Amino acid sequence: MAKVSIGLRGWRFDEREVFTGDGEFRPLDEVPDDARQRLLRLIDLVEEPCDACYLVYGEGEKRRCNQATIVYGEPLEEVVLCDDHEADFLYWYREAGGKQYRGEAEFRDAFHEWFADGGRAPEGYAGLDHVETDPDALPDPPDPKEVQERIEAEAEFEGRRIDLHEYGDGDEGAREDGEDLDLDAVDLDTDYPTR
Ligand SMILES: [Zn+2]
Repeated sequence: MAKVSIGLRGWRFDEREVFTGDGEFRPLDEVPDDARQRLLRLIDLVEEPCDACYLVYGEGEKRRCNQATIVYGEPLEEVVLCDDHEADFLYWYREAGGKQYRGEAEFRDAFHEWFADGGRAPEGYAGLDHVETDPDALPDPPDPKEVQERIEAEAEFEGRRIDLHEYGDGDEGAREDGEDLDLDAVDLDTDYPTR
């Protein structure tokens, strides 16, 4: 199955999970949870400065930071980097103990701490093993406004479905206990995993 990056290099998506055959973004409720979470997160991340640049320049000189082109880690604990700083990150991950934080909540903080303490890849560190991709050639994440509208439309749809569910059960009229169906009795968990 073809894997594709969206917006930033790094995170990879199953093309068929995220796009329709026509190359349009699938409605979010059709996208598996993991991919959906990353997709929504990318909408914010494509605007972010590189974490390492930000540590160097800070908020006061934010305009000197390069925009992020690559993302590593789990959503919300991710590290975003520019091309110049990717080698530092890879060095930290592979050679300076970063790997132990894989999947951990401390992932980003641990990298930031190492970098802020002066951690850098040695000159000429050639750790890059990804296929060079022009970030400009990557598909953009979905339009935030469109996503917002879809989320609202879905919420409305869910609301209607609950109503229909209630009417539907009432119409059967054959509930042996004869009690009116109240919302507490509607099994919402079927559609909403609780963990
Ligand atoms: Zn940078």
